Amino acid sequence: MKMVKIGIMICDRNRKCTGNKCFKSINERDGAFSEVPRKETIEIVGWMTCGGCPGERLEFAPADMKKYGAEVIHLATCYLAGYPACPYIPDHINYIENVVGLPVVVGTHPMPQNYIDAHENMGDWDRDNVREYLKNLVEDKKASEKYDSTRPNFLKPTDKD
Ligand code: SF4
Repeated sequence: MKMVKIGIMICDRNRKCTGNKCFKSINERDGAFSEVPRKETIEIVGWMTCGGCPGERLEFAPADMKKYGAEVIHLATCYLAGYPACPYIPDHINYIENVVGLPVVVGTHPMPQNYIDAHENMGDWDRDNVREYLKNLVEDKKASEKYDSTRPNFLKPTDKD
């Protein structure tokens, strides 16, 4: 069976996050994982906060994940969900790809609709030129609604994908 090993970096503003949405999106092949066939296994070899601006653990964490077999590093959706979006995404990508030597995917779970609404209202995604990182995360409206935990029927059994 084919397997892909990944490491996930999360924004330190979410350092106490339980990771539910990231893990759900891996299990259910949503968002950045939507193109990974279900018959392939995704193994998470590491999960860590960036350490705080501008990325205190950037030099350590992805390299350590690589030692444990990570083939790709995901910058979690929270890099873009927080207001404002992380201003250091290009630096994190650049370092991980060119120094650590692993490809980077920006995003994990679909951007929840409530965050899309807030950012569209504020206009910061355009102002801060981060649209290029959002393409796998906002295009599927149904998926964004599915991950909006503010909905009254969030995760209810009647809530079909
Ligand atoms: S904004 Fe960026 S650099 Fe700052 S804590 Fe979040 S992910 Fe890390």
